[in-house]
Amino acid sequence: TGDLFRAAVKNETPLGLKVKDILASGGLVPDDVTIALVKERLSAEDAKKGWILDGFPRTIAQAEALEGIAAVDKVVNFEVADEVVVGRLSTRRVCRACGKTYNTKTMPTKKEGVCDACGGEVYTRDDDKESAIRTRLENYRKQTEPLIGWYRERGKLLTIDGVGEPKAVYARFNKVLGK
Ligand code: AMP
Repeated sequence: TGDLFRAAVKNETPLGLKVKDILASGGLVPDDVTIALVKERLSAEDAKKGWILDGFPRTIAQAEALEGIAAVDKVVNFEVADEVVVGRLSTRRVCRACGKTYNTKTMPTKKEGVCDACGGEVYTRDDDKESAIRTRLENYRKQTEPLIGWYRERGKLLTIDGVGEPKAVYARFNKVLGK
């Protein structure tokens, strides 16, 4: 959902203009707007065979709405301590053109500020600045963390340790899904 919102901001669509400031501050986009976006995306042809949602649902209201849109098989909770999250996000860089993600510590671009893949400008997301990261963590605690219990009660929750190299975390992800 974050990628969908960022694309709308970049293209200056009506949705993009509406959510631009919310994204920059680290706040959450209102549920009705987010739910409508996901509903539309899941009705696309390429979603017929199945999908993985990243960044949605982030509130109980969104999870409830999703039940009415499509069936969720499993929900994977990546456990990562706050200080690790802050470290990862503050060093994250993203290509403005193709969206490829880098990290100044663990995955730098070959040439500073230039995307290896497409030559686009690599920048720091507004919401990867320290104060917005803190806001996002607070929102997570208040609005998103309750989803852990919500999905556990429904027998859908899987939990993995999200700390470590991307390859190691991906291996845990596949394992917990029985792949
Ligand atoms: P992300 O790329 O997942 O970190 O999302 C970036 C930003 O997009 C968030 O900080 C929110 O402002 C907005 N956003 C993404 N997903 C949601 C969601 N499910 N509900 C509300 N806002 C969202």
